[in-house]
Amino acid sequence: MRQSMKILVINTGSSSIKYKLFDVEQRKLMASGVAEKIGEETGMLTHQSASPNGDWKETIHESRIPDHDEGLKRIVDLLVDPRNGVIKNTSEISAIGHRVVHGGERFHAPAVIDEGVIAAIQEHIPLAPLHNPANLVGIRVAKKMFPASVQVAVFDTAFHQTLPMEAFVYAVPLELYEEHKVRRYGFHGTSHAYVAERAAAYLGRDLETINLITLHLGNGASMAAIRKGKCVDTTMGMTPLAGLVMGTRSGDVDPALPFFLAANLGMSIKEIDDLLNKESGLKGICGTNDMREVVENMERGDKRAELALHLYTYRIKKYIGAYVAVLGSLDALVFTAGVGENSAYIRERCCQGLQKLGIRVDPERNRQPGAEIREISPPESEVRVLVIPTNEELRIAQETKKVMESKAGS
Ligand code: ADP
Repeated sequence: MRQSMKILVINTGSSSIKYKLFDVEQRKLMASGVAEKIGEETGMLTHQSASPNGDWKETIHESRIPDHDEGLKRIVDLLVDPRNGVIKNTSEISAIGHRVVHGGERFHAPAVIDEGVIAAIQEHIPLAPLHNPANLVGIRVAKKMFPASVQVAVFDTAFHQTLPMEAFVYAVPLELYEEHKVRRYGFHGTSHAYVAERAAAYLGRDLETINLITLHLGNGASMAAIRKGKCVDTTMGMTPLAGLVMGTRSGDVDPALPFFLAANLGMSIKEIDDLLNKESGLKGICGTNDMREVVENMERGDKRAELALHLYTYRIKKYIGAYVAVLGSLDALVFTAGVGENSAYIRERCCQGLQKLGIRVDPERNRQPGAEIREISPPESEVRVLVIPTNEELRIAQETKKVMESKAGS
């Protein structure tokens, strides 16, 4: 077996490139960072790298980054920098793993990027008009810079492709699904899959023998019902707008709301889109989408913040109940992402009153901070409640490695 395999994971947005370089054999992060404000007046590249003694060093480089090509070039320059770089040259990088948001029904698993895969990502632009074009830019610049490396696409939607029809078809004319692929897809799949696997390992069980509910509570938020390792339902829909109350997204609303807004407030489609995606959720109710601020404001007596927290946790609780019904039995509930990993308050409130479903949280255990996987249910709880830090980039690197190995074996 190889001692080291270095994989660069890239997550490209319309004006940013986030990256992490892993030694996947050693499960070790070597460098990470983000190039931001690409194409704007002043760009910024924040780079963290591990020195041989294990200390981390951060450098911030502020100057205009005209385009993504230049952004990636500067990232690579930092990685191979003769004094502070973590690799000698780019040929040490075995593969590039790209996060791609929408793979539609075509991709149930990661794929080696070739012309056909690029065309398919392009075809799915109508389903992810903001994300897929940016992901394609990332693929184009990485292929140019690393012509000899394998490039792999890992899709946010792939994990949810096991949903049964009753969970993914909308009750609208079926032709919309058959001809236009209108259906529930679900997102955050990489994170749900990662924490599910970690949960099984922690519990000492095979993933194929347990039922889980995973809660990815970040700025965007979603839940997944996972039966014996296969996702059977998830809260996000055709787009990430559906489901839970999020930082700035409404989550579930009456589908007739846009008609009301257009007819009575004269709002355009674009204005309604912005309202529901960028001005709603926690921000719409209490003015901020930062969960830390919401909790602080509530503690200071802010009634709007209190209402926002009530909506947020009530919606989660409703979905926990629904997913227990879907799964029939539940082994563990898993909290992850910024809010799920850090907010004891939210975790406790989501699980309050769920004893009848076998779900209990021990207040003491729940309050213990930690950066590692931990259990917050009391020993007598029928359902184990876990906090598991997500690591989408590591999962992308691991999936990329798997694809390379199966390619080499075929
Ligand atoms: P993204 O979806 O942008 O990746 P993250 O997973 O980083 O989001 O989560 C961001 C959210 O996590 C923010 O709402 C932030 O307020 C929240 N968060 C981070 N730390 C804490 C904390 N200690 N307590 C409560 N919320 C926190």
